[in-house]
Amino acid sequence: MSSGFSEADLSALLQQFVTYPEQVWYAIAAFLFIVGCFQWGSFPITNGFHQKFSLRRIPLAVINFYRVVAFRWTLEIGQSYTLNMAEVFVTVAYITLLLTYAFINTTTVEGQKLDVIFWSNRIAMLASSQFPIVTALGTKNNLVSLVTGISYDKLNYIHRMMARTCFMLLCVHAVGEVVSSPYFHLSEASLHAGIIAMAAFFILIILSLRPVRTGAYELFFYIHFLGVLIFLVGGYFHTKGAYGSYWIWPSFVFWALDRFIRVVRLVAFNHSYFGFKSGAGTMDAATELLSEDVVRLRLRRPPHFHWSPGQTAYLTMPSVSTLPFEAHPFTIASFDSSSLSTEEPEDQSGRGENYGTQVLGSSAPFWKELVFLVNVHGGFTKKLKEVAATKGKAKVFVDGPYGPSPDLSSYDTCVFVAGGSGISYTLPVFLSVIEHVESVRKGKSSCKRVVFIWCIRKAEYVQWIEEALIKAVQLAPPSLTASIRIFNTGSPSTSQSIEEDSSLSNPTEKNRTHEQVVTRKDSLTSSMLVSLRGVRMESGRADLDALLKEEVSMTSGRMSVSVCGSQGIARAIRHTLRFPVSGPSSILSGGPSVTLYVESFGYA
Ligand SMILES: Cc1cc2nc3c(=O)[nH]c(=O)nc-3n(C[C@H](O)[C@H](O)[C@H](O)COP(=O)(O)OP(=O)(O)OC[C@H]3O[C@@H](n4cnc5c(N)ncnc54)[C@H](O)[C@@H]3O)c2cc1C
Repeated sequence: MSSGFSEADLSALLQQFVTYPEQVWYAIAAFLFIVGCFQWGSFPITNGFHQKFSLRRIPLAVINFYRVVAFRWTLEIGQSYTLNMAEVFVTVAYITLLLTYAFINTTTVEGQKLDVIFWSNRIAMLASSQFPIVTALGTKNNLVSLVTGISYDKLNYIHRMMARTCFMLLCVHAVGEVVSSPYFHLSEASLHAGIIAMAAFFILIILSLRPVRTGAYELFFYIHFLGVLIFLVGGYFHTKGAYGSYWIWPSFVFWALDRFIRVVRLVAFNHSYFGFKSGAGTMDAATELLSEDVVRLRLRRPPHFHWSPGQTAYLTMPSVSTLPFEAHPFTIASFDSSSLSTEEPEDQSGRGENYGTQVLGSSAPFWKELVFLVNVHGGFTKKLKEVAATKGKAKVFVDGPYGPSPDLSSYDTCVFVAGGSGISYTLPVFLSVIEHVESVRKGKSSCKRVVFIWCIRKAEYVQWIEEALIKAVQLAPPSLTASIRIFNTGSPSTSQSIEEDSSLSNPTEKNRTHEQVVTRKDSLTSSMLVSLRGVRMESGRADLDALLKEEVSMTSGRMSVSVCGSQGIARAIRHTLRFPVSGPSSILSGGPSVTLYVESFGYA
C-alpha cells in the first residue's frame, strides 16, 4: 500500500469495485436499448410524395443526416479496411467511458492525486466486468444481437474492439502493479495465474489481427478457442477473492449456452444422420462447379428448418474439410416460400418424379432445398471445388439460420445491387419483396418499384438464377415496376439491351411473358430472360453512381438499397448515398428517405 493510502481510501475503493462496473454496465445497457429502439422501431414519420420544399420533413431530414454521418461516412484504411463513423464513435465512447471510470476519484483522503492504488486496481476490475459482454459478442447466439437486431457477424468488430480495450486496460493495471507495491498481497499462485492469463490474451490480440484471420482462419479459430479458455481460467484464479472472479464466471455460462443451442439445432436439423427414425433419409449435398471460382451446393431442406431471405447457415462437411468440426458460414440463396414455386404440392416421398419447378438450377422447388453459391478461396472452399469438379456428393451438417432478415415491406422503392455470388443475399430478398407485393391485398408491402442490378464476369452466370428471375417477373403484379439490369463486366462486346425499363402493369405483356415461360419451359436461356420487359443485359462496368442517382431522382417516399458484393461495390454505393444525394436539402425538397443495407460476406 502506498504510504498515504488510509482505511477510508480502502473502503472507498472497495465500494467503487462494486458500483463503478455496475454503472458502466448501466451505460452500456442504456446504449443497447436505444440502438434496439432504432433498429426495431419503424419510424412513424410519413414521407409524403410532394416534391416541394417542406419544413414538415425536418425530422426525416434529421434521420437521413444521422444515417449518412453514422453509416456512410467512413474511415478507409488501405483497400479493404473500412470503419464507419458509428464504429468510430462507439470505439471512442467506450474507451472514454472506461478510462473515465478508472481515473475519476483517485485522490486519497490525504490529498495524493491520481493514486496508483486507486486506478491500478479499479482499472482491472473494470476490464474484468467487460468479459461477459465481450464473450457474448463473440458467440453466434447472443443477447446483444437479439436486443439490437444486429447480426452477430456485424457485432464482431465490437467484440474485437472491446477485447482490445480490455487488453489495454489490463496492461495499465500490470504497469500500475509493477510500479507500486501491490495493495492486495497476491499469493505466488495468483500472480502466476495473472501472468499466464495476460500471455494468453497477448497471443489472442496478435492472432485477431486481420492479416492472420484472413490468411489462416482455422489456426486463428482453434488458438483463439484455447487462448480464451486459458485467459478466463487464469483470470478467474488471479482475481479469486478480489471481486474480479464475480465477473468472470458468467463468460463460461454465455459461451456454454451458445454451444448448447448450436448442438441442439445441429441434432434437430440433422437428425437423419444421428439415427433417429423420423429422419427423412440422407441429406447429402450435391455439388456442382458453376464457374472457375463458384461452386453451387444443394441439399434437401432439413425438416423443421425455416429461414428468412438473407440469412446464413453454417455448414460442416467433415469429408471435405481438413479438420472434422470446421463450420463455414454461407448465405442461403434459396427462398423459403411456396408462392414462387407454384406448380406442384410438396412432395412427401423424397426425390420423386414430380419434383417440380426448377429454380436456381435445382432439380427441386427451391423452397424445398437449401442452395448455396460458394466462392472458391484457398482452404475448405478449394477442397469443395475439387469435389464439385466431379459433381460429387458430401455429408453436410447444417447449423442455422443466423442473422436478421431485412424487412423491406414499408419501402416504396427497393434497389438491389449484387456482385457475383453476392446474389446469394440479394436474390432471396428481392424475391421476397415481389412475393410481398403480390400479397399486397393482405397489406404486406407497399413497394411500387424494384430495381435489381447484378454485376457478373461472364454472361453465362445468368443461368444460375435466370429461372428465379423469370418467375419473379411472372409473379410481379401490375402495380409493380421492375427493372432488372445485368452487367457483364468481363466482356467488351456490345450491349444486349432488349427493352427499356418499363412497367409490368400491361396485362397483355404479362400474359405474353407467362405464355413464353410455360411453352418454352424446358429450353430456358438467358435470351429468354432478356426478352422480358424491364430486363437489360449490358456489357462493361455498371456506373453505380449514375444508376443510383437516377433512382433517387425518380423516387419520393421511402427507398431501400441492399448491397452484397465486393468492397469496391459497397464503397461506391456508400459514396453515392452521402450528401447531397441523401442530404437534408434533398429530403426537405421531397427526395426519398434512403436506408442502406450492406452485406459483406465476412467479419468486418
Ligand atoms: C455471414 C457470412 C455469410 C457468408 N456467405 C457467403 C456466401 O454466401 N458465399 C460465399 O462464397 N461466401 C460466404 N461467406 C464467406 C465464407 O464463409 C468464406 O469465404 C469461407 O468460409 C472461406 O473458407 P476457406 O477455408 O476456403 O477460406 P480461406 O481461403 O482459408 O480464407 C478466405 C477468407 O474466408 C475467411 N474464412 C475462412 N474460414 C472461415 C470461417 N469458418 N468463417 C468465417 N470466415 C472464414 C478467412 O478469414 C478469409 O477472409 C460468408 C461469410 C459470412 C461471415
